[in-house]
Amino acid sequence: MAKRDYYDVLGVPKTASQEEIKKAYRKLAIQFHPDKNAGDKAAEEKFKEATEAYEVLGDEKKREAYDRFGFAGVEGAGGHDFSSVFRSRDFDDLFGDMGGIFESFFGGRPRRSGAQGAGRGLDLRINLDITFKEAAFGAKKDISYTRRIHCPECKGSGAQSGSQRKVCPTCQGTGQVRRSSGFFSISTPCSTCGGEGHVIENPCRTCSGTGLEKKNQKIKVTIPPGIESDRRITIPGQGNAGANGGATGDLYVYFNVLPHEYFERSGADVYCALPISFPQAVLGAEVQVTTLEDKTVKLKIPPGTPNGRILRLRNEGIPVLNGHGRGDLYIKVFIQIPPKLSPRAKDLLKEYSASAGEDLFPRPLPLSELNPK
Ligand SMILES: [Zn+2]
Ligand SMILES: [Zn+2]
Repeated sequence: MAKRDYYDVLGVPKTASQEEIKKAYRKLAIQFHPDKNAGDKAAEEKFKEATEAYEVLGDEKKREAYDRFGFAGVEGAGGHDFSSVFRSRDFDDLFGDMGGIFESFFGGRPRRSGAQGAGRGLDLRINLDITFKEAAFGAKKDISYTRRIHCPECKGSGAQSGSQRKVCPTCQGTGQVRRSSGFFSISTPCSTCGGEGHVIENPCRTCSGTGLEKKNQKIKVTIPPGIESDRRITIPGQGNAGANGGATGDLYVYFNVLPHEYFERSGADVYCALPISFPQAVLGAEVQVTTLEDKTVKLKIPPGTPNGRILRLRNEGIPVLNGHGRGDLYIKVFIQIPPKLSPRAKDLLKEYSASAGEDLFPRPLPLSELNPK
């Protein structure tokens, strides 16, 4: 099948900026992602086609070579390693908001990274929902995910025990074959060994020669106290195993902190509102409040506290991430008007009104007066 022009694949003009190329690819990748189109071969092909096009056009050097020499200009560099897009820093930029859907597709594909073929395995990303309290004070959580490990039968070599990998007879182990094309000669990945430089005589039956096996992994994740949304921790060596016995990638756990019923957060400080009565505001009071830690502490309301005043409880906030000390708890009080009063309470209030005297010509004030400090 003839290959389509990369610009046509992404649907962008030859003059497109990097930004436009990235946008076009992102759109296609999301549309045709295999996880969303399970079993749809055509979608998978489209996804691969778009990824290949982006791999070239999204890289100024490769793009220039492609513009000058067409496909021949970009096939010499060891073939298309789709996974490089997914290993690059581009990943977060492109799909950072998509969650973890892009991990699984590329997970464990043998990487064709040169003559030895023993590439490092992919890093994996997991998004983990945690409660507001877990983020504040830390916790341990069990998570499970799928990763590729080295096949235990052949220890990742892909060869049946007793049999050996041997140097590819076509390319003599270089993984590349040279071919002349007009004025220049180019290298392309050897098709006999897929660019890996060796062939397996008797592939391992357990893993069909890939050297890799899918594993459902369970691990305990330690949530550091004070963590915030979109921060991540790295768990070394818990990503995918590399092909041909290559090193294992890392696991990144990204946290998504769920909102609390009434506490909000700004850095290490915590905020909430608290209803108080008119007499409490006027006369002052000592009330009990429950902190984020479920501790009951005394809060002093000074006499003459205006509506909307913010009171502070020191060190009742969130521990500072990787640091010392903790934030404060800020409590904004608001005076509640009772919806119902007993006849006795009504009489007392009338008496109060009469004795205090009511202003029948109140003077308007600017709105800012509603938010006293
Ligand atoms: Zn095996
Ligand atoms: Zn070869």
